[in-house]
Amino acid sequence: MGKILGIIGGGQLGMMLTESAKKMPEHISKIIVLDPTENCPAAQVGAEQIVADFKDEKAIQELAEKSDIITYEIESGDSDVLKSVESKAEINPSPETLKMIQDKFLQKTFLSENKIPTPEFIKIGSLDDLQQGLKKFGYPSLLKARRDAYDGRGNFKVDSPEDNQKAFDYFKGQNIMLEKFVPFKMEVSVIAARNTKGQIKTYPLVENIHEHNILRETIAPARVSKEISDKAEEIAKDVMTVLKGAGVFGIEMFVTTDDQIVINEIAPRVHNSGHHTLQSSETSQFEQHIRAILGLELGSVKLLHTTIMYNILGSKDFQGEYHPLEISEKNVFLKMYGKKISKPLRKLGHLNLVANQEESIENLIQKLTGLKEKTHILALK
Ligand code: AMP
Repeated sequence: MGKILGIIGGGQLGMMLTESAKKMPEHISKIIVLDPTENCPAAQVGAEQIVADFKDEKAIQELAEKSDIITYEIESGDSDVLKSVESKAEINPSPETLKMIQDKFLQKTFLSENKIPTPEFIKIGSLDDLQQGLKKFGYPSLLKARRDAYDGRGNFKVDSPEDNQKAFDYFKGQNIMLEKFVPFKMEVSVIAARNTKGQIKTYPLVENIHEHNILRETIAPARVSKEISDKAEEIAKDVMTVLKGAGVFGIEMFVTTDDQIVINEIAPRVHNSGHHTLQSSETSQFEQHIRAILGLELGSVKLLHTTIMYNILGSKDFQGEYHPLEISEKNVFLKMYGKKISKPLRKLGHLNLVANQEESIENLIQKLTGLKEKTHILALK
């Protein structure tokens, strides 16, 4: 008999996890998601849903009672509540790992204690700390909220001494840290998996292009030398070796101007930069995550086809219902997430553009330029 899988969060990641889990009926008999939006994306593809806030203690308890194993698609869950229901359901990645990763300062401390390269950083408790830190790191540096910050929203770039007070005041009441600015030539990531038995596999390095601090494009594989991709993969393996807990992790890194690799941050979940694996790889990151948390042998991470993933985002100038997109072209795989309402820059779907045999990345980039026109989100009149 398969197990009942509980997922905290039923957005697009929960949706694609649900779709993968449904293809494994011998291992998973039912999927239940906890999400505040009625008929969330995961519910639309066959997950049962508990409608409640991600941090609702009672709802998490209910999910634990109904599930054999719990995982999550968002990292902002309440790790203490999760810890308290561990006797009812197995939770992966573990609440301890989640707690450490949720706090950027604890995460970077953990990484540097394990000799894994990160930008230099310090904890900031006062304006004086900030001034001392800036003396050490110089300008620009980044002041960051330690928790609940994503898509660049919790960062303040301090460009000159005149910014110090303003930057410090911006984070009133929040725990913060200062990070040395890393001059990078590329942002990259590794999707890495570790199963409950300790088996580790890493997907090939990919290149990430951001717009407005949101991931827009992922190019698989990254356009870097073999030396750099080997180095990044090795660092990702080191991270997986020291982290407790099982599952897929998205490890975001910078390739610096002098070809060093440093880790920006780790997401304890399937990751937007891994969506290409749905078409490019033998095992998608979603199937891999389920294999990892169930303790199954991990699938092959081989990249079979060069692929570009392009995120379809809500237009900046409107909020409301939108025209459905239709693209039927060879080697283009459009995935919409079933969100009824578009909001500025909201992730509504993605497409994977897959290369023909021998087709170059440059050619694929050219093709994508033409396709982008067809992905504009327009208001439904
Ligand atoms: P974060 O939300 O911390 O991942 O940061 C959002 C974006 O800010 C990253 O994708 C980078 O483009 C940039 N960034 C973050 N940390 C640094 C850093 N130490 N040096 C340079 N750029 C950074």
